[in-house]
Amino acid sequence: MIEGVGSNLTEDPAVQGLALNFRDISERKALEEQLRQLAFHDPLTLLANRNLFRDRVQHALTLAQSGHSSVAVMFLDLDNFKNINDSLGHDAGDCLLQAVAQRIVKTTRTSDTVARLGGDEFAVLLEGIAAITDVERLADALIEILDLPFALGVAFSTPEGGAETLLSNADIAMYHAKAAGKNRHVTFKPQMQDMLHERLRLEADIGRALAQQEFFLEYQPIVDLGTQSLLGVEALVRWRHPEAGILMPGRFIQVAEECGQIVKLGRWVLKQACLDVCSWRTSIAGGAGLRLAVNVSGRHLQHGELVEDVAQALRESGLEPGNLVIELTESTTMYNTDANLERFQRLKALGVKLAIDDFGTGYSSLSYLHRFPIDILKIDRSFVSRLTNSDNGPELARAVITLGETLGLDTVAEGIELEPQVSALLALGCVAGQGFLFAKAGSLEQLSTSSFVARRTALWTAQAARGELSATGRFRALNAIGRRAAGAA
Ligand code: C2E
Ligand code: CA
Ligand code: CA
Repeated sequence: MIEGVGSNLTEDPAVQGLALNFRDISERKALEEQLRQLAFHDPLTLLANRNLFRDRVQHALTLAQSGHSSVAVMFLDLDNFKNINDSLGHDAGDCLLQAVAQRIVKTTRTSDTVARLGGDEFAVLLEGIAAITDVERLADALIEILDLPFALGVAFSTPEGGAETLLSNADIAMYHAKAAGKNRHVTFKPQMQDMLHERLRLEADIGRALAQQEFFLEYQPIVDLGTQSLLGVEALVRWRHPEAGILMPGRFIQVAEECGQIVKLGRWVLKQACLDVCSWRTSIAGGAGLRLAVNVSGRHLQHGELVEDVAQALRESGLEPGNLVIELTESTTMYNTDANLERFQRLKALGVKLAIDDFGTGYSSLSYLHRFPIDILKIDRSFVSRLTNSDNGPELARAVITLGETLGLDTVAEGIELEPQVSALLALGCVAGQGFLFAKAGSLEQLSTSSFVARRTALWTAQAARGELSATGRFRALNAIGRRAAGAA
């Protein structure tokens, strides 16, 4: 490529004429093109980057407004990509991103713009849309072809909204897709905006709430199903929000996980629960054998210093490690299994017990039950409720409970609401449980006056019981003692 520059030098006494300069600028042009590529494309996938995508959206909106047609934007976000990167390495992560990029390009029309917005986020711009169902069909096709867990949000242009609004709406929709569970697409609706505002407000509030001591704990009793005496408690966090009132964990745990505050919150819960139970149990007969279960987020396990936090809570409270149960949900414990295994082993080395929460609802693979040093399975409420519901698969519920027993693990049934569930559980060998049938979560002072504590006291004071009750940590022991005590009376 040649560039020519002409200069009029007729006034120059040395030249007195026109000068023409020619030079080869191919190299410079190529460099410019490279820079343009860099400025507008993602080097890994060669897709459009965020800048170019935003330009294209702007342009498409202008065209759509004059032609009275509509534009749609899709946001895609791979689930748990970070785990893939952490466990398989960055090269594998890069390959995966490239493969995803190729598949999206293949599935979309050539007139659509596909972009990588950063990290594991992709976007598609669809112009000249004839029908909403066309977009939905594409979304379904993407879910089909990607064959990976991801969330997909869709937003359509509106006559009044600009590019920023359209992009942010697609982002909000994707957020909702994430919350709704894996592999689905969600289309933006205006009321989602309000929910986003609430989230943002909560996120900002959590930091303050920690400093101002707005969180507090309630305790749900875990009882021996045979004797209905107290075995321990599960700590459940609540938030006394100055404007919104008392918030339950369902409203804020996920937000805390996403903004990273969960580690601080989890640390506070651990320490507070240990301190609460240690001072409370001195008033309970045989209180030194009561167990405390604390819920811990998978993020805390993976990104925080959970082992150190647990050790510190034990040290500062004086709770014996064997009385502390760390509850982790099935799904979070399954990822990145080698690294998690190592963390589990370090936790176990402290002497604490590990429980899998909501057991049966997460991963189908059960191999980790053998690999991981787990002590307790908490049988999810959905199985407990199916136990006595003959048309809704009691066999599965039975299988899940029997599995725990076969593996020699303690099983604790959650969400027991009906009396017949108790007998069904006992018949399957599950001897410990919690649920509204017994008590909702409340203060430890309230629990002191409950029938579960009274029964524990009665058992404890029965001479025969004392030795065995302190001798073993297994729930079964109490049950046996209960039967014997009942027989003796
Ligand atoms: P989870 O660990 O499965 O806790 C049991 C939840 O079921 C509690 O809800 C409890 O109040 C409720 N529940 C107990 N018995 C029954 C019953 O018979 N029927 C019904 N329908 N529900 C029952 P809550 O307190 O709202 O907690 C919800 C979830 O929030 C917990 O589920 C746990 O995953 C999470 N969570 C609670 N506290 C903490 C915490 O300190 N840290 C973390 N990371 N998560 C927490
Ligand atoms: Ca739990
Ligand atoms: Ca649970």
